[in-house]
Amino acid sequence: MSKAFGSKEVIRKTAEVRDASNMRDYQQSYDSFSWQEAETLLAGLPGGHLNIAHEAIDRHVIAGHAEQIALRWIAKSGERTDFTYGELSRLTNRFANVLRSNGLTKGDRVYALLGRVPELYIAALGSLKAGCVFCPLFSAFGPEPIKARMEIGTANALVTSTRLYSRKVAGIRPALPALKTVFTIDGDAPDTLALQPLMNVASDQFKMAKTDPEETALLHFTSGTTGKPKGVVHVHQAVVAHTETGRIALDLRAGDIYWCTADPGWVTGTSYGIIAPFTNRCTMIVDEAEFDAARWYDILSSEGVNVWYTAPTAIRMLMKAGTKVMEPYHFPALRFMASVGEPLNPEAVIWGQNAFGKPFHDNWWQTETGGIMIANYAAVDVKPGSMGKPLPGITAGIVEVEGDAVTELTTPMTIGELALRPGWPSMMRGYLNEQARYDKCFKGGWYLSGDLAMRDADGYFWFVGRADDLIKSAGHLIGPFEVESALMEHDAVAEVAVIGLPDETAGELVKAYVALKPGHIASEDLRLDLLGHARKRLGPAVAPKIIAFRQNLPKTRSGKIMRRLLKARELGLPAGDISTLESDET
Ligand code: ATP
Ligand code: MG
Repeated sequence: MSKAFGSKEVIRKTAEVRDASNMRDYQQSYDSFSWQEAETLLAGLPGGHLNIAHEAIDRHVIAGHAEQIALRWIAKSGERTDFTYGELSRLTNRFANVLRSNGLTKGDRVYALLGRVPELYIAALGSLKAGCVFCPLFSAFGPEPIKARMEIGTANALVTSTRLYSRKVAGIRPALPALKTVFTIDGDAPDTLALQPLMNVASDQFKMAKTDPEETALLHFTSGTTGKPKGVVHVHQAVVAHTETGRIALDLRAGDIYWCTADPGWVTGTSYGIIAPFTNRCTMIVDEAEFDAARWYDILSSEGVNVWYTAPTAIRMLMKAGTKVMEPYHFPALRFMASVGEPLNPEAVIWGQNAFGKPFHDNWWQTETGGIMIANYAAVDVKPGSMGKPLPGITAGIVEVEGDAVTELTTPMTIGELALRPGWPSMMRGYLNEQARYDKCFKGGWYLSGDLAMRDADGYFWFVGRADDLIKSAGHLIGPFEVESALMEHDAVAEVAVIGLPDETAGELVKAYVALKPGHIASEDLRLDLLGHARKRLGPAVAPKIIAFRQNLPKTRSGKIMRRLLKARELGLPAGDISTLESDET
C-alpha cells in the first residue's frame, strides 16, 4: 500500500519560517491546547451570548479598526471595490434591519443564491446579526437542486438577482410555501423586493441579536460526491473553531491579505471564505470570476496576497496551464499556501515548491466538521501526499468498525476509517431531517468520517479514499488516491480518476481514467507507457489494468472528482443524485 506514499522527500521548514509562524511548536501547542482558552480570543456578547457576525466585524470596529479594508471585491471586469470593516458593519446592520422590517425574526432561514458579489457577504453577516440562519447556495445550481435544498431547510427568505430569480426560482416558487420573501439585489422582478431601495432607507444601527452559542447559525449542504447532499447544521459556537483553525492551520494574522478561492456555496467558502478571515481581521480578496490561470497569478501578485487557500482541482489546472503563463508574475508577499477538498497529489505539492518556492499545505475536513481537522502547518515539515497532523484540540484515530464495536488501529500505515473524538466547537449539530443518519456517524465514542486513511509512525495522516471508493483486487486493498498520484507523476497526465470494476477472478479490476495535458495526444503507445510507469511505481497488483483517456472527468461544482458516477456509467447503473455535477463530456 505504501509504495507511492512516503517515498518522496520531506519538505523541511527552516528555523526562520518556523519562528515567524503563528504556531511555532506543534507538539507543545497540541499538548497544552484547550478550547476554553481558544474562546478567549473572541469578544463574546454580554450575558454569555455569542454571535459570529459580532466576532467577524463589529468587535474590530469597536477595537478601532473601522478603517481597515475588510473586503476587496474584484468584479469580473477587473474593477476593484473596497469595503472597510466600518462600512461592512453599517451595511450588515442595514441588511439586518431590512430583514426585521420584512418580518424575519430569530431562527428564520435566509438563503442566498448569488455569485461572488458583495451582497452575498453582506447578506451572510447581516442574517447572522439578525439571529437568522444563513444558507448559501451555489449560483450555478439548476431549479431542482435549489428547490430540494430550500425544502429541506425550509427557506423563509432568499437573496438573489433578478436574472437568477427569473431563470431558476420563479418556476419553483409555488412549491415553496414557506418562502415568503425574495430580495433581488439588482432591481425588480415580479413577486420580489428590490433590496437596494430598502437598504437605502434602513438604519445603519442595529442591536445584534442575542444568540446563544448553541443556536443554529449556518446551514450547509455537502458536496454530493457520494450521493444525495445532506443538510448540515452549524451553531454560533463554531466561530471558536473557525477563528482558531484559521490562525493555526492557515497561519492567518491581523492585516494579512488573504484569498480563499472557494465559493461560499460550499462550506470552505463560508468557514474560511467569510468567517475565519474576518474574525482574524484579515483583508479578504473576493474574485467574482471563475478560474483563469493568468488572472489568478495576476491577483496573487498584484494584490500582494499573503495567504492563499485553494483546492487540488485548481492547482492541477494551474499545473496544466504550464509555467509560461506564470513567468510575468512574482509573489514576494506570498507566505502560506493551503489546499482542501480532495486529496492533493504529492506531485502538486512539489510543483508548488518549485513554482512558488513553498509547498501547498494540504488539509482535511468535511462539511460536517465545520472546520479544518487535520493539516500541514507553517512550522511543520511537509510530507508530500500526506494531509498532515490533527489540529490542537482534535483527537484523530484510525479505526475498524465491526457492528457496534470500534477498535483503534495503532500499527502505523494500517488502513482504517478516519475517526475523530467529538466535542470541538464547529462539529455539526445535526443532519437536517435525518436524525438516524446523524446518529449512525457516532459509535464507540468516535465520529466516523466515512473516509479511509492511515497514520504513519510520525503521526502524519495519509488519505486512502472514500470508504465507498476502496478497491479490493486479488486480495489487495487499493486506495484510488495512491494509484492516481502515481499516474500524476507522468509528464503527460493532467488529472486522473481511478475506480474498481467488478471482475470474476480478481474481485475488482483497477481502471484509470486519464485526462492529458495540452500538447499530449491519446495513443496506444502513451497508454502502454502509462501502464508501464504505473507498474514500475506501484507493482503489478496495484497498478491499473485498464487505462481510458478522457478529456474531462466528471466533477462536483466544488471541484471533486465523482468516481461513483464514472463507475455507474461504466456499469450502466443509474447515475444517482447528480445535482452538484458540473457538466462533463461522457
Ligand atoms: P457528500 O458527503 O455529499 O458525498 P463530500 O463528502 O464531498 O460530499 P464535503 O463535506 O464537501 O462533501 O467534502 C468532504 C470530503 O472531501 C471528505 O470527507 C473527504 O472525502 C474529501 N476531502 C476533503 N479534504 C480532503 C483532503 N485534504 N484529502 C483528501 N480528501 C479530502
Ligand atoms: Mg461527505
